Amino acid sequence: MSIPFFAQVNSYFDKAARHTDHDPGLLQQIRACNTVMRVAFPLERDDGTIEVIDGWRAQHSTHRAPTKGGIRYSLMVDEDEVMALAALMTYKCALVDVPFGGAKGGVRIDRTSYSDGELERITRRFTFELFARNLIGPAVDVPAPDYGTGPREMTWIVDTYTTLAPSQIDAAGCVTGKPVSQGGVRGRTEATGLGVYYAIREACSVAEDMKALGLGTGVEGKTAVVQGLGNVGYHTAKFLQEAGALLVGLAEAEGAIQDARGLDVDAVVAYRKETGSILDFPGATNLPTNAAALELECDILVPAALENQVTRENVDRVRAKLIAEAANGPTTTEANDALLARGVLQLPDMYTNAGGVVVSYFEWVKNLSHVRLGRMGRRFEQASNLKILHAVEALTGRRLDDATLTGAAVAAGEQDLVRSGLEDTMVEAYGELREIARREQVDLRTAAYIEAIDKVARTYGERGIFP
Ligand code: NAD
Repeated sequence: MSIPFFAQVNSYFDKAARHTDHDPGLLQQIRACNTVMRVAFPLERDDGTIEVIDGWRAQHSTHRAPTKGGIRYSLMVDEDEVMALAALMTYKCALVDVPFGGAKGGVRIDRTSYSDGELERITRRFTFELFARNLIGPAVDVPAPDYGTGPREMTWIVDTYTTLAPSQIDAAGCVTGKPVSQGGVRGRTEATGLGVYYAIREACSVAEDMKALGLGTGVEGKTAVVQGLGNVGYHTAKFLQEAGALLVGLAEAEGAIQDARGLDVDAVVAYRKETGSILDFPGATNLPTNAAALELECDILVPAALENQVTRENVDRVRAKLIAEAANGPTTTEANDALLARGVLQLPDMYTNAGGVVVSYFEWVKNLSHVRLGRMGRRFEQASNLKILHAVEALTGRRLDDATLTGAAVAAGEQDLVRSGLEDTMVEAYGELREIARREQVDLRTAAYIEAIDKVARTYGERGIFP
């Protein structure tokens, strides 16, 4: 029997807590899941029959408000899963300095079995169930996309919330991952995948760590396998490919393909859209199962689908040198230990996929300020840059041509600012993680938990405990 997901998260927590000197009672409080709501609600299906749908929302830690975490649609959703994922959100937010507590929600459905109208009714009713219990709102708890949900579901959520709370001026901040036209922020769609890419790039830039893996520095020329071509996996694959990595294997729900010469992810995704499957992609070889992709020889493995993918059962056959956990919990604790013993570099989920919540934070800030990021200062910044360039011209007696002037005087737009904030966060956090790992002589996952525990403990310590 596999170890329950929340127990796995807690075992990482306990391992890291031994490297801290916080009060044991406080550690128990940090570790506990504060609130779990389970709901069963009716869905009237298109054929008039009634089906009961199960949903959950867990708020792991309210040491900061609002709490934050995605809503997933998957048949694997249960109380244990949302509690584990909510806990990961608490630690992730602390690690990357996003001022939220952790939460997660899920609805137990296979989204492909429902029509668009049915999915809309499920989403709106689940939002209502959250609203009725004060479990959603810009100051309370802010969902986001996750497995099986995306901008469309986020739009239904914000519309339902706004309908229920018409006088709430900050209503748009009740959920993130919205389309830009609905109060979303430019750069959110690709944020998690871009963050995963930055994490890999940072890890690959450290000569000492690469040498230990028998690799040179840089992403360029490295071979990579990506499992799951949804929001996170697709964008990760795309950024890796753009940086010169060779995608030698790709996996989706229906199967996996391999090509040592490298696969073009856009071509594979277009082919899947057309045929309904990645299998038989021209020039590639089909693998016997989708899980077989995890066992391909490669430098970088990116599990970007669901939890419990690298397990005690298959870990000995996993040959990647670096595993970047784009999904949450893709490696079980037993597999984690085996990989550590073999010297495989693991970039932990808590850090690696934090880009989504970082940019969700920027979106929430935008919603509360009611102004597009960069709107106030862009012209001014452009004009200031131009003045500096003209001063340089005056001092040097040389004239710059118009193309150079307009190119150099450019000021940041919303997407530039979002990407700058995301890159800065991922780079800084990697530096901190590596430093803690060296200081404590631990792996990066344990270092991430140590850092997160310290930060949450500091918040409790400074605020005290009510009453
Ligand atoms: P998604 O629904 O957009 O994509 C998941 C993809 O995985 C789908 O295309 C699905 O068909 C595929 N898949 C399912 N089972 C598979 C299997 N056995 N093998 C290969 N592919 C399989 O979901 P997502 O938003 O990309 O989330 C993926 C993971 O990333 C989840 O663990 C989620 O919690 C995590 N995550 C997502 C975000 C985000 O911003 N969306 C942020 C942080 C973490």
